[in-house]
Amino acid sequence: MTTTAKPRTVRCPACGGPSEYSPANAWRPFCCERCKNHDFGAWASESYRVADPAVPGGDAAEGDTLPRH
Ligand SMILES: [Zn+2]
Repeated sequence: MTTTAKPRTVRCPACGGPSEYSPANAWRPFCCERCKNHDFGAWASESYRVADPAVPGGDAAEGDTLPRH
């Protein structure tokens, strides 16, 4: 008796729930599209925040030092 080919299950990085790690899961290692988008959104916004040197109303900071991170 052979065990049925079970889809490998991993932990979803976004919600920590079980995620099917197989070609059937287009969002692996995430469990669903929502989790994937959520994770990417967080990453993107963080990256955007760091990469964007523009400050709202940055006119006043014109005379200030430029590389001020
Ligand atoms: Zn998830």
